[in-house]
Amino acid sequence: MTTIIEIQSLHKQYGQQLAVNDVSLSVNDGEFLTLLGASGSGKTTTLRMIAGLETPSKGRVLFRGEDITYQPAAQRNMRMVFQDYALFPNLSVWDNVAFGLRLRIYRGRITAEQIKGRVGSYLETVRLSAHAQKMPHQLSGGQRQRVALARALVTDPPVVLFDEPLGSLDAAMRKSMQLELKRLHRELKKTFIYVTHDQEEAMGLSDRVAVLQDGQLLQLATPDEIYFRPSSAAVARFIGAANVLDGTAELRADGVVSVCMPGDVRFEAGENVAGIEAGAAVTVMLRAEQLHLMPASSTAGRGVRARVAERLFLGDKVRYELDLAGTDARLTALDAGNRDGLQVGDEVLVTVDPRHVRIIGGSDGHRSVA
Ligand code: ADP
Ligand code: MG
Repeated sequence: MTTIIEIQSLHKQYGQQLAVNDVSLSVNDGEFLTLLGASGSGKTTTLRMIAGLETPSKGRVLFRGEDITYQPAAQRNMRMVFQDYALFPNLSVWDNVAFGLRLRIYRGRITAEQIKGRVGSYLETVRLSAHAQKMPHQLSGGQRQRVALARALVTDPPVVLFDEPLGSLDAAMRKSMQLELKRLHRELKKTFIYVTHDQEEAMGLSDRVAVLQDGQLLQLATPDEIYFRPSSAAVARFIGAANVLDGTAELRADGVVSVCMPGDVRFEAGENVAGIEAGAAVTVMLRAEQLHLMPASSTAGRGVRARVAERLFLGDKVRYELDLAGTDARLTALDAGNRDGLQVGDEVLVTVDPRHVRIIGGSDGHRSVA
């Protein structure tokens, strides 16, 4: 795999505010890489420094190994798609898409005939051929975003940058545009660098996800890695429905590690347990969809005792909020089939396969064990 973009120790300071704090990462040629983080985590600032729309306070941006940190945006081999579309309101769909190419006629790099072919073909790619003569205000939000996409793609940049491009679309339109982006990425084989605060969108679209918090890069990995092997409690909490609990490690003679919490709550841990010492303070992650609930009355089975505090029917699944007996701790459980049929107030036993009880670092992102 070849690297197309590399950022090295990038910093951006606004007055007292360190918006981007020492971010380094490499983007592979043809990759779909997403910067994921809460609002204010530094996603847009990082993207704008890659685009050349913002100058770093420190650090470098490389394109195919060449330092472009101070190269003007217009000279970079990149185009950006914004959340608010940024279309020319007084130009038709066709003219919006053709705009960037027409500038090239004067430089003798393209003919009017070639432009016609290119614009037509990209309007087809984004399925807008039938709307070519319309004005932006005559289009739906999703259609406008597809014009913006065609306009970014038509000059054939190797890298396309997206800043929350689906942010102002309703849920249904967002889902369909996600599929559209995935298809475009597969067909065009360009490098996409994408920004979103929506973890589901990031996981579903990307080859790799970079999780940002407070301007810092917490983890850069495949969606699968991020989901099942978060590098810290902060990442675990941000991705999906994870239960993150603090406890003390207990070691059996045969080496089995359990994590104990007040109220005699105990989960056997099966992941990332090597080197854990008895008595160490540890943080564990239990994925909500891996918890199994049984009515406490129905069985003399084993498990951690809890009470159903809240039940939310979500259609494809039911979410339970559980109060662990004898502690302040709460667990979230997701039941995809609504098989349990539990109600608020029911006493339950919670069990989880030790393979889904993973020891992760402390909240500072490091293993809190020696
Ligand atoms: P995100 O896109 O993840 O929401 P941003 O990159 O926009 O985050 O912002 C990161 C931090 O930098 C925020 O605290 C924001 O208020 C601050 N910030 C961004 N742009 C500016 C600016 N032009 N001037 C001052 N502060 C800014
Ligand atoms: Mg932003």
